[in-house]
Amino acid sequence: DVFYRELPKVELHAHLNGSVSYQTIEKLFSRKPHLNIEHSMTAIGKGQRRTLDECFQVFKVIQQLVNTEEDILMVATDVIKEFAADGVKYLELRSTPREEKDTGLTKKSYVETCLKAIQQCKEEGVDIDVRFLVAIDRRNGTEVAMETVKLAEEFMLSSDGLVVGLDLSGDPTVGHGKDLLPALQRAKNCGLKLSLHLSEVPSQLEESNLLLNLPPDRIGHGTFLHPEVGGSEGLVDKVVKNNIPLELCLTSNVKGQTVPCYSKHHFNYWYQKGHPSVICTDDKGVFSTDLSQEYQLAASTFGLDREAVWKLSREAIDCIFAPDTVKQQLKQKWTDLQPQVF
Ligand code: IMP
Repeated sequence: DVFYRELPKVELHAHLNGSVSYQTIEKLFSRKPHLNIEHSMTAIGKGQRRTLDECFQVFKVIQQLVNTEEDILMVATDVIKEFAADGVKYLELRSTPREEKDTGLTKKSYVETCLKAIQQCKEEGVDIDVRFLVAIDRRNGTEVAMETVKLAEEFMLSSDGLVVGLDLSGDPTVGHGKDLLPALQRAKNCGLKLSLHLSEVPSQLEESNLLLNLPPDRIGHGTFLHPEVGGSEGLVDKVVKNNIPLELCLTSNVKGQTVPCYSKHHFNYWYQKGHPSVICTDDKGVFSTDLSQEYQLAASTFGLDREAVWKLSREAIDCIFAPDTVKQQLKQKWTDLQPQVF
């Protein structure tokens, strides 16, 4: 539907290596024919589902394909242009800095290359404002988390505002948030914004409670925070009192089977509450979707009319990590683009 494609959109939850499109994967295949990887190993098609565990296997395969600076530059540039072509006007891209001994890639050059792609797209005049979140993969433990925060700090100071925050992601069943608290606290103290994956799987009440005390600036998924799915009123209260926006990814959660079907997605719970909820893709490549499709899905599943959809995309601007001047620019853009009648 052209309305959704033309709708100006804000994307706040996109993992770089999960966002790689079919076309870009083709290019990576041709660069690495010896790897013997096929498309069925890098994306989950329409109607298909995987366990969350299997989804994490998919990320590993893609990461194998993306292991040089050249690859990262291509992947990040393609992803940014694809989001722009889908009507995304502001994007926060997140990625886990990776070191690859074989190719000489370092965590620092990893981030530098991502920022180079952002810079190049800007110079080319691609109509999208892109920022970067440095990601901590929770499975790598306390020390790596602290190193990652230090790296993010350096880039926050040297990247001209491109690096705005920190993400905590990775397999939610591995490790415990309490071990990462010192790193997250340090990040917060130095001015990095925090977007944390929280309660992505059931029975993480204690961890979620600890992490909510920071508090984070945004929450990824938050699937099991509310009491109807085994969360608690106490957790919901903390989210509401601190007015912490949620990044909600419908297709990702249904395909990854943490949510049984679209109509049971927790978007409805938070939206009904009037709590800031931002529709996002998570991994548009892996889950074969794009942001227009996610907005359309939310609208058709929960009966939102076009005016409500417009409002939803506009209100996402208040949840971005870039400074107020950027919010004002974006709001002006939305005003300029708003249809006379819906
Ligand atoms: P990368 O950080 O650019 O390499 O993107 C892939 C990584 O993002 C994965 O290895 C995970 O650490 C993280 N990721 C992507 N999707 C999810 C999710 O749904 N939950 C938790 N972590 C995720």
